[in-house]
Amino acid sequence: MARIIGGVGVSHTPTIGFAYDTHKQDDPSWAPIFKGFEPVRAWFREKKPDALVYVFNDHITSFFFDNYAVFSLGIGEEYPVADEGGGARALPAVPGNPELAAHIGASLIAEEFDMSFFQDKPLDHGFFSPMSVLLERTANKWPTTLVPLQVGVVQFPIPSAARCYKLGQALRRAIESYPEDISVAVLATGGLSHQVHGERSGFNNVEWDKHFLELITRDPARLTEMTVAEYAELGGWEGAEIVMWLIMRGALSANVRKVHSSYYLPSMTAIATLVLDNDDLPVPGKVNERHRERIVEQTRDAAKLTGTHPFTLVKSARRYRINKFLHDLVIPEHRELFRRDQEAAFAKAGLTEQERDLIRRRDWQGLIHYGAIFFVLEKLGAVVGVSNLHIYAAMRGEKLEDFLKTRNTQVLYSVTGTEAGRNVSWDRKS
Ligand code: FE
Repeated sequence: MARIIGGVGVSHTPTIGFAYDTHKQDDPSWAPIFKGFEPVRAWFREKKPDALVYVFNDHITSFFFDNYAVFSLGIGEEYPVADEGGGARALPAVPGNPELAAHIGASLIAEEFDMSFFQDKPLDHGFFSPMSVLLERTANKWPTTLVPLQVGVVQFPIPSAARCYKLGQALRRAIESYPEDISVAVLATGGLSHQVHGERSGFNNVEWDKHFLELITRDPARLTEMTVAEYAELGGWEGAEIVMWLIMRGALSANVRKVHSSYYLPSMTAIATLVLDNDDLPVPGKVNERHRERIVEQTRDAAKLTGTHPFTLVKSARRYRINKFLHDLVIPEHRELFRRDQEAAFAKAGLTEQERDLIRRRDWQGLIHYGAIFFVLEKLGAVVGVSNLHIYAAMRGEKLEDFLKTRNTQVLYSVTGTEAGRNVSWDRKS
């Protein structure tokens, strides 16, 4: 069973990454940042967690207002550094942990946290600013795997502290019921007090910050009673992002041991670190067993359905490349390249030989078995002039005429739009 070894809270101000990249370790203005982070680094060096669940928020870099999720869990295979306007920092991508992420995702959904899921997104300073200072890399490789949890805290309303704490408690059950024997650390970023917009910009509150560090360690339940407005009043408007620390704290036992804490206010944002050892006893096997039963409760019986291939989080992560290739047929340039030079389009997308072969042969059944979702197959059908009914028949392993006989009317259709006349041979007469 997976074990939660501890929790870490750190600020994520870009100053941390900037100081690191510009080698300011000995500069008196910056040195306290490194001094505060060193014991956290040592903790990671000693504990060597197999996985890190990393709670952070994006700063309108990879998560924009076209689809702004509140709780978004990363299920991907890796996470590169985002370019925030001046080129991406020279850090390697962090390897993901799709299996652990899928388990956590399924567990949270089972507990009625309706998560969103992301992959193929670079992460910004909310993630990499502290990350670059916390973990040592060997041969430019990170020493752990990552499950990122992005919290939408910049477009209001944002989740309450109470909700974040409950999510943390659910996260704990999710991690502890993961059947692999791995160690997991939970880290949350954000704060402490700061405000970076409006006439109140530059607001800080040292007294509150120190009190917060005390409460999050000893009495987190007290923090769940506060409203977002109270957080903003005490710690600045943007400082209200500190509610993310409640997710980390909720994932730990009631009693924790404080290993380290630091606090430094150099400019706009108070930079804090906090390391808590989780004084937890192993969860009884039966309890985890029951929880895992609950996770699969909604879909367990679906395993009996023949000819049915659920599109799951693991499939989504492991088969992302081919689904993206087929999805991107909605982009006219990609579609044109695919029509003009199929092999060049395959090569550009880095598809494997198996994937290329499945698409070349229009092996609709094989594509489903491989892990493509039907809704990208109908896009491929629209591009290559095949109706949806052709695809349904092929997936069943039947001839189109035979399959059509099983329908009440013998009609053909597809999702093709204005390009219909150009490619569609099955509907020329209409
Ligand atoms: Fe922030």
